Amino acid sequence: MTQCLPDYGPRMRRYSVGVIVGGVVVGGGSPIVVQSMTNTDTADVASTVAQVAALAGSGSELVRITVNNAEAAAAVPVIREQLDKRGVNVPLVGDFHFNGHRLLTQHPACAEALAKLRINPGNVGKGSKRDEQFATMIEFACRFNKPVRIGVNWGSLDQELLARLMDDNARKSEPQEATVVMREALVTSALDSARQAEALGLAHDRILLSCKVSGVQDLIAVYRDLASRCDYPLHLGLTEAGMGSKGIVASTAAMAVLLQEGIGDTIRVSLTPAPGGDRTREVIVAQEMLQTMGLRSFAPLVIACPGCGRTTSTVFQELADRIQGYLRAQMPQWRGRYPGVEDMHVAVMGCVVNGPGESKQANIGISLPGSGENPVAPVFVDGVKTVTLKGDNIAEEFQRIVDQYVRDRYASAAESTAKQPAGVAR
Ligand code: SF4
Repeated sequence: MTQCLPDYGPRMRRYSVGVIVGGVVVGGGSPIVVQSMTNTDTADVASTVAQVAALAGSGSELVRITVNNAEAAAAVPVIREQLDKRGVNVPLVGDFHFNGHRLLTQHPACAEALAKLRINPGNVGKGSKRDEQFATMIEFACRFNKPVRIGVNWGSLDQELLARLMDDNARKSEPQEATVVMREALVTSALDSARQAEALGLAHDRILLSCKVSGVQDLIAVYRDLASRCDYPLHLGLTEAGMGSKGIVASTAAMAVLLQEGIGDTIRVSLTPAPGGDRTREVIVAQEMLQTMGLRSFAPLVIACPGCGRTTSTVFQELADRIQGYLRAQMPQWRGRYPGVEDMHVAVMGCVVNGPGESKQANIGISLPGSGENPVAPVFVDGVKTVTLKGDNIAEEFQRIVDQYVRDRYASAAESTAKQPAGVAR
């Protein structure tokens, strides 16, 4: 679409229709929503509730769960109920493949408990059954007024559609490369399915789209094309991104380009966790991607130098790590009490070369002593050197200074008002 909404700074946000997903607005110029997906067996209610709660606690604003069999479908309302009892009201998204039409028919309470249905048009059914089964799922979405994400995936692309586009391409006098046809098939699959859903009665503002692929350049090309051909909100994510740093780098490389162009209304970072690894990592990475791009703030940012031969010990790394973990851990309490604290920058620097300069740019900064320097650590608050720390308790003292700064700077209007003496006009 050519129409754009002004967003953060010079970046222009692609116009999209706003879709309400369980109280969370996706698109329509709303802040980009972070979402995630569980990897528990949905039928295992206790494990799924625990993981959804952990993902929501780390900041996931929507959580998707797979609904792959009757046991999972039956568990969904129970999971919703248990989350509500725990005060975890994060919207749940149901991920359906192959048998979604049957599961929804047999377990309508599942549809009711979900905030959104994800339908993969490549896994809805084959031949004549495809349209019928797709229609059944859309009818449930309409009956319970649930939005639907038409979620196309490279790995499960509608093979009949792909074969048809490949045949059409082969008949052209100048056929395009297979990659181009494949990308077109992804976008066509999403747009055709969305049109079909609307024809079945699903409102335009109840549809979101995604076309996930595992290659960075493919993702950029596909989403640019998709964004130019519709105004549905787009769920952005590199599928099968992989493990560890590779997954993070690939996701960021692809999504950052698109986000900078204003494309993407909700994101998921599809990291493969290490065995026993923490599933919430994908939420933290998504948040950090948005925050380091200046698109949204979630928790105070720690700016730390990489360290080098001038760094005398591990004190510097330990302090940076400790402060980063501390700040994030405080956010559940701080978010409500100290509005704006998520924009705070804290610098932890290793020596005098860049330490004071970077510290002055942050809200609070500390410059630890490098090799050959006096064993002291000047602290800067709002650009001014306030105190010099030394001895064995630098970390504890710096943390106390950070706490005090947060209380002084970000105390909510309610707290400030409460401190005013009686008789002060309100
Ligand atoms: S600030 Fe100092 S310790 Fe840190 S990387 Fe630069 S020179 Fe090295």
